[in-house]
Amino acid sequence: MKRKLSKTALVLAALSVVAPLSSGSATRAVPGLIFPVVGPVSYINDFGAPRGRLPHQGNDLMGIKKSTVVAVEAGKVTFWTHSASAGCMLYLHGNSGTMYEYIHLNNDRTMKNDNRGKCVAGTAYAKGLKDGAHVVAGQPIGFLGDSGDANGIASHLHFELHPRGGNAVSPYPYLKRARILLFAADPGDRVSLTLKRTSLAADTGAGTLSMRLTDLVASTGLHLEKLSRKITLALSPDTLVLDELGNHVPFENLDGLSDGEPVQIETTSVPTTLASELGSSLALTTFSVTIPS
Ligand SMILES: [Zn+2]
Repeated sequence: MKRKLSKTALVLAALSVVAPLSSGSATRAVPGLIFPVVGPVSYINDFGAPRGRLPHQGNDLMGIKKSTVVAVEAGKVTFWTHSASAGCMLYLHGNSGTMYEYIHLNNDRTMKNDNRGKCVAGTAYAKGLKDGAHVVAGQPIGFLGDSGDANGIASHLHFELHPRGGNAVSPYPYLKRARILLFAADPGDRVSLTLKRTSLAADTGAGTLSMRLTDLVASTGLHLEKLSRKITLALSPDTLVLDELGNHVPFENLDGLSDGEPVQIETTSVPTTLASELGSSLALTTFSVTIPS
């Protein structure tokens, strides 16, 4: 009897090792998500709100046209370009078995509502992204827009979440808990960041600097404004400390920074990983800090 049990236990152990490899498992829960839009966004829980024939099947994430849209989890993308109402659309078949729909992706060439772009990579979908591609969590997959029946209405991402590929449920609680990226770029691409706004505190002994970030420019060309985010970055004794004229000042001067003073940080160039995209102090290193004279 004892022996039989241990055999069962062995089989179960083997199964649990194999299970994560099979994608689309029917029993797995919705995972913790990466927030699907990079940059400022506003949204409410408008799932189920009356919209024409069907109640609203997702949440509308109101944002800036052409904001980068990323994979909320790892999976496979499928393009869909034949829906008049959805416009340029993308399915993400998550490895968890959850399916996500990204609707009203960008179809404009300029920042105006010109409708001259097609549902292709570089306009609606991320540059170079192929239909059927496997993507990692946080990988850019598209651009926020106003295609389909959102034409001319405020640009937004209509985002749906289908557990186990079944009926849509409200994505709201999952979005509220989602981790928000600081920036997004193709996996492995080297990126450095310029981060601007106010210091909260620097502690050269502990090797940290906290700031409230409102403005980010990445070496990829990504420029985000109107952010409201507190981040903490690692300081090393090698970090250059400069005044506003570009003169070197002693590293210890950072300790004299008071709350609310404007600072600008340049990071070293780092490979794009989920950790660096999330702004983890373990992945982002401070190259220089410019402080008030
Ligand atoms: Zn919608």
